[in-house]
Formats: sequence, structure tokens, C-alpha cells
Amino acid sequence: MPERVRTRYLVVGSGVAGLHTAWRASESGDVLVLTKRSLFDSATAYAQGGIAAALGAGDSPKLHRQDTLAAGAALCDAAAVAVLVEEGPARVNELHAAGAKFDLDPSGKFKLGREAAHSRHRIVHAHGDQTGAEVARTLIARVTESERVQVFERARVLDLIIEGERCCGVRASVAGQPVDIIADATVLATGGCGQVFRYTTNPVVATGDGYAIAHRAGVRLADMEFVQFHPTALDTRENPLQLISEAVRGEGAILVNEAGVRFMPKRHRLAELAPRDIVAREIFRERAGGRCVYLDATKLGRGFTRRFPGIYAVCRARGVDPVKELIPVTPAAHYMMGGIVTDLVGRSSIPRLYACGEVSRTGVHGANRLASNSLLEGLVFAERVARDLATTPELPEPPRKRKWRVPVLTDRGAAQVAADDVRSVLWDYAGIARTAKGLHTCLERLDAIEERLPEGATEEANMVDTARLIAEAALLRSESRGGHYRSDFPRSKRKWRGRHIEW
Ligand SMILES: Cc1cc2nc3c(=O)[nH]c(=O)nc-3n(C[C@H](O)[C@H](O)[C@H](O)COP(=O)(O)OP(=O)(O)OC[C@H]3O[C@@H](n4cnc5c(N)ncnc54)[C@H](O)[C@@H]3O)c2cc1C
Repeated sequence: MPERVRTRYLVVGSGVAGLHTAWRASESGDVLVLTKRSLFDSATAYAQGGIAAALGAGDSPKLHRQDTLAAGAALCDAAAVAVLVEEGPARVNELHAAGAKFDLDPSGKFKLGREAAHSRHRIVHAHGDQTGAEVARTLIARVTESERVQVFERARVLDLIIEGERCCGVRASVAGQPVDIIADATVLATGGCGQVFRYTTNPVVATGDGYAIAHRAGVRLADMEFVQFHPTALDTRENPLQLISEAVRGEGAILVNEAGVRFMPKRHRLAELAPRDIVAREIFRERAGGRCVYLDATKLGRGFTRRFPGIYAVCRARGVDPVKELIPVTPAAHYMMGGIVTDLVGRSSIPRLYACGEVSRTGVHGANRLASNSLLEGLVFAERVARDLATTPELPEPPRKRKWRVPVLTDRGAAQVAADDVRSVLWDYAGIARTAKGLHTCLERLDAIEERLPEGATEEANMVDTARLIAEAALLRSESRGGHYRSDFPRSKRKWRGRHIEW
């Protein structure tokens, strides 16, 4: 591997956002995709429920827009939401035409599911509950067949190269070797950061590298206090936890505590289909009161196996038969609404640096993401990024060469302990229910963890940095809104309406 590689476009990450960008950008120039593990290692490949798009009879971008804005609790960017809902249907149709085998009805139209807080059936899905894997498979096929896309797997980006106040590429460890990748334009599509919480549905690659890397380089970030906790992950000791899709509740499954009491109808008029943050908080409250919580899907009978074959297999492999038994569930960190602030074509605050997908903050989710809007956001904004990339002029002069080495991890055990400590501290003090006292403790503990980090623990250092961004923002926002809940300030405040916490 040479010490320096030159490409027209550099895309970091191989989820829906990175792959779609690479595929479409290759129409105007050579693309290099870097990804931390294999091409298939991403949150995208885990997505179950589907992609939201106004494609059904009686639906419209206007209705989708209303639902998205309502979920976002007065923090969405209206222009970004308009782009999402208006361009979404075309992107889904294109992906279908590109080979994605979505579930269709006998007349050949998309079978559309319904999820919480959507006013219409608008969730396009594949193989029942394996939508993300189908999206990833389709895009990987398009990218790997393109002669203009090169892929480096096991290539971890450590930092951006910023010179002359513009981004000229990245420093990466490629199979352990230090490589400077120089690009006319760099796209961060590094996904989310669920791994900074003890309980998460996110894959192990989701350590928040993109937020930390961008923050170190002085890129503008916002809304990091808004983390979405999914109400129903299968309660086991695994990492990540397996998700039990909202669609299961959409089909009629109910939540009961260990006394067999169905608690949601008394807490919200939409019962189990209330917004995610509310359901997650109520389950958290039950568990904090010492009562385990279960999803009862038994009334779906054998239909469960047909509608949710993947979830059925996951449960059976862990000794639970959802057709006959209750499924033990816990809330888990699921999605980061905040991130790198971008404009409507994915440009960040630093010239030649773009962001798309979960790592970006386009403004479509506001304080809370509407279910199944994130794969859509990945497709819609990656397309816009790809088009805009074509307008990037060549770098006038490449950055200076500087010798550097990939930091060598000196103590793997200590790094693991640090990662586990971050996960516990964030879950306990900056998780579903936050207080000022707890957040102060959280920040102190993060400082202590940082001091104990062994040399070369770069990924764990990113976890600490990202965790700190979440806790700092959560401390500043002295109200509750969307995914951010402060038990010392349980209501939304007018003074915070429309206000963002930015770095
Ligand atoms: C279990 C689960 C179910 C979900 N279900 C749905 C759903 O039904 N509908 C929906 O819309 N959304 C769903 N989501 C959310 C959605 O999957 C994600 O938000 C979306 O896939 C994010 O796509 P992305 O391309 O931004 O990031 P990802 O798909 O996470 O990809 C990020 C990529 O960046 C790489 N990377 C990270 N750091 C580095 C680094 N330092 N160097 C190099 N590479 C790096 C990773 O390896 C990965 O390839 C779900 C998420 C989970 C976890």
C-alpha cells in the first residue's frame, strides 16, 4: 500500500449513505470508498422495518411532511423535510429499478406497512423484515460492478486532513498501515454512535468516529443531545441487542409487565403506537420499578413467522418462541438525530467536506426521527451529495506530506474496560432520563476515563469525545423535547423552541 493515494472523490463508510453516494458519484469521477470492516458491516444492513415514502393511494409528500414535522418537535428544518418527502418516492423507485427486491402485492405495487406516528401506510419493506440487508446488497452490487469505484475494506479513518481551511482528504489506517488519502472532495458517511451506550441496537462499528473526527477538525455540529432510544430490543446480554421492530406492535402486539398488566393505554392515547420516546420511557419506568417488560405478539399466531421471518429466527435462536411466548424487551440506543451540520446538498462548514446519512444533521429529524425516515434520508441526501460533488474543482495543490504512524494500541484489555465504562456512564447518566446532577457526574467520569485511556486507543477516544458532545448538549438543554428527556425539566420550554445547540 503506498503512503499516499489520490482520488477524485473519497467516501468514508459503506452504509446506505456511503454506498449510494459512491454509486451515483462514479458517474462523474473516480471514487474511493473506505470502510472500517467489510462492505456489509453497517447499521444499514441491520435495518428491519423499511423505508418511508409517500407512494400509496391516499398518501402524499404533504402528509409525510406533516408527520415528519410533528415527530421533530419544532426542531426540523422545513426545507430539508420538503426535500426528503418530495424526492423520497423517486429514490425508492430507482432503488427498486436497480434491483432491490421489495415486497410487492399481487398487482406489482409496493406492499406498504405502517409504523408509529405515520398517518398512512407508507413503509416499503423487503423480505418482511430484512429491508436494510436488501438495500445494502443492491447498493454493494452497483458499487462493486463499477469500474470507477475502488473499495478499501479494513480501512479506518483516523482524522481529516485540513490545510488552507479546506478538507484535502483523510489520514487512514489501511490494514494497519498509515495512508494519506488525498481527494478533491471527501464525504463522511460514517453512521451513528449507538455503541457509546450500554444497551444499543447499533453494530459494533457505530462508535461515533465521524462526530469525533469532525469535531476535532472544527467542523460545525449540532443537536447531539437528541438520541433516539428504541423501545423494544430483545433483552439479552449481547452487544448489539437484537431489535424487535415497531412493525410488530403495528401488527397488534402489546406490551405487558411481569404482572401481566398492559400499561401503555393508560399512559398515551396511541398506547403501544405512541411516539418512540414515550414508549421507551414508559418501558424504562417499568423496569426502573423492578418490573420486567414483555412484548406479547402471541395473537399474531403463525402469521408472525410469515410477516417477520428474521425476527422470528432471531428470537428462536435465543430460546423464545414469539408465536407462543412473551418476548422480553428493553429500550436501547438506536439513532442519533444530531451530527455534522449540512446544507441541502450535504456540504459541511468546511469547504470540500460533505456529510450524509446518520452522521449528518440535515435537519430532517429535528428532535426526534420518524420511524423509517433514516434509510430515506440516506438515499435522498446521498443523491444530492453525489450531484454536487461533480461541481467540485480539482484541488489546486495537494497538502504537504507529513510523516506519521498509526498509533499502536498498547493495552487491549484497558481499552475494552474504557469502552465498557463509557457505555455504562452514558446509559446511567445521559440515557433515557437525564438530570443536571447526573450529567455533571457523566462529564466528570468521562474525563477520568479519558485520562486512563491506553496509548493507541483511538476508537475508544472517539467514543469518549462523542459521549462528551452528547452529555454537554444534554446538560445545556434545560427542557425535555423529542428524544431528549430531562426528569428535572420534564416539559418543553418555549425559549428552547427552534433553538439548536451547536459546536
Ligand atoms: C437494528 C436497526 C434497525 C433499523 N431499522 C431501520 C428501518 O427499518 N428504517 C430506517 O429508515 N432506519 C432504520 N435504522 C436506522 C438506519 O439503519 C441507519 O440510520 C442508517 O442505515 C444509517 O446509514 P448510514 O449510511 O448513515 O450509516 P451506516 O449504515 O451505519 O454505515 C456507516 C459506515 O461507516 C463505516 N465507518 C464508521 N466509522 C468509520 C471510520 N472511522 N473509518 C471508516 N469507516 C467507518 C462503518 O463501518 C459503516 O460501513 C435501523 C438501525 C438499526 C441499528
